[in-house]
Amino acid sequence: RIFNTAPLTHRPEICFDDIGGQSSAINELKEALDFIRNQEKIIKLGIRPLKGILLTGPPGTGKTLLAKAAAGYTDSIFIACSGSEFIEMYAGVGAQRVRQLFQTARDTGQKLKKDSALIFIDEIDILGGKRGQNTSHHEYDQTLNQLLVEMDGLKVNDKVRVLVMAATNRVDMLDPALLRPGRFDRVVKVDLPDKQGRLEILKLHCRNKPLAKDINLEEIARETFSFSGAHLESLANEGAILAMREGCLKIEHRHLHEAIDKVMMGEKLDRRPSK
Ligand code: ATP
Repeated sequence: RIFNTAPLTHRPEICFDDIGGQSSAINELKEALDFIRNQEKIIKLGIRPLKGILLTGPPGTGKTLLAKAAAGYTDSIFIACSGSEFIEMYAGVGAQRVRQLFQTARDTGQKLKKDSALIFIDEIDILGGKRGQNTSHHEYDQTLNQLLVEMDGLKVNDKVRVLVMAATNRVDMLDPALLRPGRFDRVVKVDLPDKQGRLEILKLHCRNKPLAKDINLEEIARETFSFSGAHLESLANEGAILAMREGCLKIEHRHLHEAIDKVMMGEKLDRRPSK
């Protein structure tokens, strides 16, 4: 099985400046990551190494972007996967995949001569749900146990230091063992952006688009309460599509305004119960 390894060799794909409306999450994250950047001091002071950071919050708020930016910030290789990739019918397969994941991180790090690797597990609740509950069964438990074993085995002086970042919007569902010191003991909240945050995100997603003079992004930010970063990205894109359909060379305010409804409609359609 090949995990999605995107080595960040020269220029990281994403940096913290590309993420809008999440300044407190970014600050908390940077503070935690500075532990990795100042490894020598940490070893000298005998501080326990940072092994896991959990990002919690609703979908589309930028958790994956934050993990990618964290890899760039720490000059680490980046390996992404989802909790659902570990769930298999056959006993032991999930646990074996967890072992492979950590091995891939170490091997790729060595091959690319990097000191650190960042593993990002999206939807960790799928594999890290509370053990021994009705919803969970033996195979899930083995997979989770293996993740705990791998994390416990991470050492500060490993040739390639591995940091695990994980994301969930159901932190209450997680097995408490995952949140113990030495595992995911840093929890960073990634909430929906407020008005100012929405404005920042809109600016980021409009920065390479031709905008007409009448565009008022402040107004669009005011009218998009409860929109996530993903919704706002989609809004900017829909606005451009509407402009193209009308044969306009620039995106006008009304295009973005109309796109708000389009994105909201899409959201409603997404929420239709599946038959
Ligand atoms: P999920 O929980 O569904 O995996 P997520 O929180 O990981 O979602 P991302 O995958 O990081 O969300 O975001 C999806 C897309 O939405 C990004 O590629 C980006 O275009 C846009 N986006 C989301 N949040 C932000 C943000 N804070 N700033 C800029 N763009 C954002």
